Amino acid sequence: MHVKKGDKVVVIAGSDKGKIGKILENLPKKNRVVVENVNMQTKHQKQTKEMQQAGIIAKEGAINSSNVMLYCDKCKSGVRTELKIENDKKVRACKKCGTVLK
Ligand SMILES: [Zn+2]
Repeated sequence: MHVKKGDKVVVIAGSDKGKIGKILENLPKKNRVVVENVNMQTKHQKQTKEMQQAGIIAKEGAINSSNVMLYCDKCKSGVRTELKIENDKKVRACKKCGTVLK
């Protein structure tokens, strides 16, 4: 997987193309990710003890991880990354501007 939970990514394909969000869930076995506010699915929620509110709820659906790219705040776009060594740790950096993406 080229992205991980908590990464800021931009959607590069599909109906949510151009949306920016954080990765909420990583599903490496399925090669899919769940991104904040992307691929919203509405579901009818029945009232349960845990869910006091019944009705329609919106929840993110998983999308293919190849449809997202890491987002660089400096470049203001999705970017390719390269590995850098910083304090003896491998980090990912933007290939364009060199900013380390955490
Ligand atoms: Zn950059």
